[in-house]
Amino acid sequence: MDLTRRHFLATAALAGTGPIGLSARISFPSVPDGPGSVEPARTVFAQRFDPWVEVSADALRRNLATVARLAGSRPVLAVVKNNAYGLGLAEVASVLEPLEGVAGFAVVKAEAALGLRKLGVGKPILLMGVFGDDVGPDLVRSRIDLVLATEDAPERIRRAVRQDGPPPSTQLYVDTGMGRMGLPYHRVVALLRDWDPDALGLSGAFMAFTEDPEFDREQLQRFLRLSEEATAAGVELGSLHAASSNGVFNFPESHLDLVRPGIALFGAYPSNPSRERQIAELSPAVSLRARVVRVERLRAGDSVSYGRNYVAHAPTWVATVPVGHTDGYPRSAVEGARVRINERLYPVIGAVSASHTIVELGEEAGAQVGDVATLVGWDDEAIFPNAVAEATGASAYDILMHLNPTLPRVLV
Ligand SMILES: *Cc1c(COP(=O)(O)O)cnc(C)c1O
Repeated sequence: MDLTRRHFLATAALAGTGPIGLSARISFPSVPDGPGSVEPARTVFAQRFDPWVEVSADALRRNLATVARLAGSRPVLAVVKNNAYGLGLAEVASVLEPLEGVAGFAVVKAEAALGLRKLGVGKPILLMGVFGDDVGPDLVRSRIDLVLATEDAPERIRRAVRQDGPPPSTQLYVDTGMGRMGLPYHRVVALLRDWDPDALGLSGAFMAFTEDPEFDREQLQRFLRLSEEATAAGVELGSLHAASSNGVFNFPESHLDLVRPGIALFGAYPSNPSRERQIAELSPAVSLRARVVRVERLRAGDSVSYGRNYVAHAPTWVATVPVGHTDGYPRSAVEGARVRINERLYPVIGAVSASHTIVELGEEAGAQVGDVATLVGWDDEAIFPNAVAEATGASAYDILMHLNPTLPRVLV
């Protein structure tokens, strides 16, 4: 992953967002071979057989607009954890940061929070995860918003703040029943009485839903009641947020002061694609592509790949694409996923190995060595992330987030 500022600038320029909105906030050092010399995706990858990942800037912008509309124009805290759901942190941030509807970014790992700042992101960055003393001072210096998620959080934050420095901005992470992260809601008010919320820079509180529709309502009630109890105890929690993509689509009462979606921004439906697409259409924002490296004609009885799961019953053309499970393409793709080559869809056969996937072309050789193959992408509904997830028994989160971070990303 190339987390340099120059790369960020370059990708911003490729996306056509230019330095608008960025240069207004940040003065960049001179860039010797900066945006002007960046080649468009087609040129960069014209000769390439190894896999690459394309990210659609337009799709990201459309999805942001869609999410903001569903959320009644509330600000969007864009969740870009795990390399922006596999799309690439630099590429995604360069597109989303200048958008007015984006209030800031949220991540889980300290490294990602610091990475966003290094890329030149000026908007608020919320680190939703717990951080260690190794990165505390760096996080405070980088103006990362920190969470109060454990009982020792105030101590940890105090250790991270320089004697004469201002307190960081913090948010309370409340566990209303998820049982994963945050302070149990029934203990929060007592803790707040012990703490000094002003000195801790408390500016907001948030929670995560279990996404069990019945229980989500109970969780929201717990959260709102807690906020009232805190007010009664003399503590204003600040802005409240709870809704991830599922809440944005399926639970309007949870939209509160701002929404906190991830996957919807990247063009995949969170829970129930067929129902959610009736609510609003999302645009897949990522494509996984490579060029066909081998086209061969099998004789009847010939097999392909490990385990000989596929045996040709009649003469059949097959093509090999140099993308495998190490790149994030699921092994279970053999159970019904298809690959798009030259505007046609071909079934995956045999086995997905570490670096190769084989498709059945049929009686005719509909592809040649060097043709572009798309395994996940926006060109056809059958390869949308949700469709690949359905065909492979995986979740759309896996399909996106498992994209190998070492593959080159390019904004188109
Ligand atoms: C990942 C995450 C989100 C975003 O979830 P999506 O389902 O991708 O919209 C929101 N909040 C928290 C705490 C998360 O970990």
